[in-house]
Amino acid sequence: MSATYERFIDLYIQCPGKTCNNKAITYWYHKPEECRSNIITRMKISTRAKIKCGYCNVPSHIRHWRFACDFHKNSYQETSETKFAKALSIARKMEAIDYNFANQLIDYLGDNDWEMD
Ligand SMILES: [Zn+2]
Ligand SMILES: [Zn+2]
Repeated sequence: MSATYERFIDLYIQCPGKTCNNKAITYWYHKPEECRSNIITRMKISTRAKIKCGYCNVPSHIRHWRFACDFHKNSYQETSETKFAKALSIARKMEAIDYNFANQLIDYLGDNDWEMD
């Protein structure tokens, strides 16, 4: 497998919002007002730290996305490298996310500057 190989899976982690303490591991859905699909569509995450909607299919780095959960329904929060990596490692430990996938992504975050694409 080459280092540039990028793979997407459903995003299934606890809320990575910067100040959020919600521990529930959930799927994430594209905000209906911003989605081109009529159907609520799951978000996907890649081994190269990109998030995209399964329908709109426009991937961009995790830092460009905002997250709202049951704890702050209409308040979309930024994430941080630390908070996102923590949500990932918990999902890995709980076997919510594929172990090898999680390792590749955590390695990618460690090897690449959060501010670079
Ligand atoms: Zn969408
Ligand atoms: Zn939250």
